Amino acid sequence: MHGHEWMNRFSTPAILIRRRDYGDYDLVLTFFTLSYGKVSLIAKAAKKSTRRFAGVLELFSEIDIAGAAGRRSGLPVLQEAVLKHPFDRIRTIPTRLAYASYWAELIDAWMEDHVPQSELYHLLRHALSELDRGAAAEASVSVVFQMRLLRLSGHCPNFELCTVCRIALNAMQSDVLGVDVPKGGIACLNCLPCPTDTPRLSKGTVKQLLWIAGGDLERAARIRFTPAALAEALGFLECFVPYHLGRQPRSLKVLRQLREDRP
Ligand SMILES: [Zn+2]
Repeated sequence: MHGHEWMNRFSTPAILIRRRDYGDYDLVLTFFTLSYGKVSLIAKAAKKSTRRFAGVLELFSEIDIAGAAGRRSGLPVLQEAVLKHPFDRIRTIPTRLAYASYWAELIDAWMEDHVPQSELYHLLRHALSELDRGAAAEASVSVVFQMRLLRLSGHCPNFELCTVCRIALNAMQSDVLGVDVPKGGIACLNCLPCPTDTPRLSKGTVKQLLWIAGGDLERAARIRFTPAALAEALGFLECFVPYHLGRQPRSLKVLRQLREDRP
């Protein structure tokens, strides 16, 4: 939605994905919103004042926001913010915070401003809610999030055929497959023989990833991976997603460091 008429006055549920200081008093906030996709607003006096927006503008919270056009050609101005879901248990555990930061960074980098993506909004909201509840393994939630993000953004990997010789997945003899990351899909071991640092996937993991990429989110989220399949899936996605994004997310480095330090 280009043209900024809607900005005269608007309201929408939103998830706060980025906060930056702006001068001594203000904040620039980037939200992923249900109705307008990614939107940045300025929150006047939000940095110093304890009354205005007190405790509401925390990262990864779901907030009902109302905004209005700024003066001249500046950013729209945040006028109201009402907390819906704080998801505050995310911010108390470093690995949870790192996963949420990674997902937010992917959305911030990949999505254009003002393009509504309601299915992606519900996906992010679901993933943050799961992280907050702590019922499912963090890595498993991240696999579901990344696979569905790839599909929704038009970057779903080719899991049907070897991207080089076109042999079908089911016709491949080995249970282990390579991934040709630049070509965007799996490759049989004849075409990608040397065990380099490219990711490997077993057929079973490929089938699980295909299953969670599409269909109903609630069903996909109930998937249970074996520890080996989860490690494979995570290794593959954290290589594939940054490559197709075109850069290494900073938060992914932090996430990897935290997982290595874990006893
Ligand atoms: Zn091949």
